Amino acid sequence: MERTFKFRLYPKDSQIETMDRWLYLLHDLYNAGLQQRMMAYRNNGITQTTYRQNGELPELKKQLTEYRSIHSQVLQNVFDRLDKAYQNFFSRVKKGEKPGFPRFKPLKRYNSFTYPQSGFKILDSGHLLLSGIGEIRMFKHRDVRGIIKTVTIKKDRVGDWFASFSVDLPDPEHKEQKTAVGNDLGLKNLVMNSDGNPMDNPRFLKRSEGKKKRKQRQLSKKQKGSHNRQKARVRLAVVERRIERQRDDYLHKASRELSTRADVIIFEDLSIRNMVRNHHLAKSILDASWGKLVQYTRYKAEEAGGEVVLVDPKNTSQICSKCGGYVQKSLSERIHICQDCGFVADRDWNAALNILKIGSDRAEFKPVERGVQPEMAQPLYESGSSLL
Ligand SMILES: [Zn+2]
Repeated sequence: MERTFKFRLYPKDSQIETMDRWLYLLHDLYNAGLQQRMMAYRNNGITQTTYRQNGELPELKKQLTEYRSIHSQVLQNVFDRLDKAYQNFFSRVKKGEKPGFPRFKPLKRYNSFTYPQSGFKILDSGHLLLSGIGEIRMFKHRDVRGIIKTVTIKKDRVGDWFASFSVDLPDPEHKEQKTAVGNDLGLKNLVMNSDGNPMDNPRFLKRSEGKKKRKQRQLSKKQKGSHNRQKARVRLAVVERRIERQRDDYLHKASRELSTRADVIIFEDLSIRNMVRNHHLAKSILDASWGKLVQYTRYKAEEAGGEVVLVDPKNTSQICSKCGGYVQKSLSERIHICQDCGFVADRDWNAALNILKIGSDRAEFKPVERGVQPEMAQPLYESGSSLL
């Protein structure tokens, strides 16, 4: 089982200078490697391999002395990244998706480098020793569990540095799955459980969105290429990062709670969910949040020996969870009223019960005992209110 631990770094000015220089050289190497692969294919119809490109590195170091100070595995990793870009491209072609050929990377998009095996060490002091760079102060706020495979050093948009350790953890023992809970992902509530526990869609996102828009406006007024524009860009990045962090914190908290509710946590499969939604809503934000929530819950459930199951969400909001009848309703109808069996329920709760049912039908899960029916929802779209 693979996991990542991320910590903030506090490099000295001289170390920042070195790392910035590395990023510049590595982005150059990446683009040169891409150029080489494209030429090799165009001229000779051959696919340049990572192996061959790595083989040329000693010669490159001889000719371009500035590359000598960079740890050799960090250099090799550049070609691994390039190869991954190619692999992704090929697999998209194979799947019949829009392929998107690997592209040259501008410096501002090349913001990290990786030690794939060696060349780094976490010291007893908690600081990080990097070959070619030295000892960097690191804020190690928790223990790194498992065997460290790689470390990636990354500069974010604000200009701060981070270390991400990718580790291998032993797979948890798969416990017997006895209980299950269904979850409807929504707008009013981020999640509605089949056991009747809604989770808020936090309003602080809406507040910080306003702030972000203001910073975006300020940025757009600054003259291109000016020093002030650069400063405005950093200020915007600071706000964006804060929003991202708040959202992430919340999603971690919510997923931790979700993962403890049952052995099997059932969600709608977002990749096939009909995404047609109200345009006033900050849809992309919600999409990202839902996706992350499912992903985080999966991590946490699996670590505890549980599991996340995804089901086709088709008609889950229309079907009556009690009798299976079809109850057509528009987005604005918040209450499910079944004329056939008389079941009346909060719309999202009814959907969560359906999701639980579809997911449980595939196995022998006992649903988590049904709680009290959640408080009936108020109509959501009054007077053009937006939710985020
Ligand atoms: Zn019914």
